[in-house]
Amino acid sequence: MSYKITQSAEETKQIAAELAQLIEPGKVISLRGDLGSGKTTFSQGFAKALGIKRAVKSPTYTIVKQYPLGEQGKLFNHIDAYRLEDGGAESIDLESFIDDDTITLIEWAEFVIDYMPETYLEIELEAVDNDERKIQVRTVGQSDDYDQLRKEWTQNWKG
Ligand code: ADP
Ligand code: MG
Repeated sequence: MSYKITQSAEETKQIAAELAQLIEPGKVISLRGDLGSGKTTFSQGFAKALGIKRAVKSPTYTIVKQYPLGEQGKLFNHIDAYRLEDGGAESIDLESFIDDDTITLIEWAEFVIDYMPETYLEIELEAVDNDERKIQVRTVGQSDDYDQLRKEWTQNWKG
């Protein structure tokens, strides 16, 4: 699998911004990785490139935060499922946030895995050193759309 090594939080935000520039409403992205691996940092770079000016923080207490996108009626969903580690995934009604007018980024999607759509992009972040992160991505399910997006995003990556 191809991968990207970033050397700073800023570089991870830049990589996330490149994905945001390619993505279309209707898409769902899962961010996996340990605490501190850079999921929220990635989300911040992603949201900023979508034109969201409000600072994106880890929505630890709210689980789901919605931000309006420039285009009328379109929304960015930032979801942090960490607090659902011990159950309760059904309580957030994930499916109700996902439609053709929303772009959805989910930290700790493993805790809502039963409610994920059939196809999505799964991005894995891994700390390899203090400021170094390894980023990998795969398509979950069968989707030419997601495959195309992934290939465009990663065309200059190693591996
Ligand atoms: P998570 O949401 O996965 O728990 P955060 O994004 O909240 O992780 O935290 C990542 C921390 O690691 C931040 O303090 C960030 O500044 C730091 N960091 C250092 N190097 C990198 C890098 N290459 N990519 C992303 N974050 C980095
Ligand atoms: Mg986080």
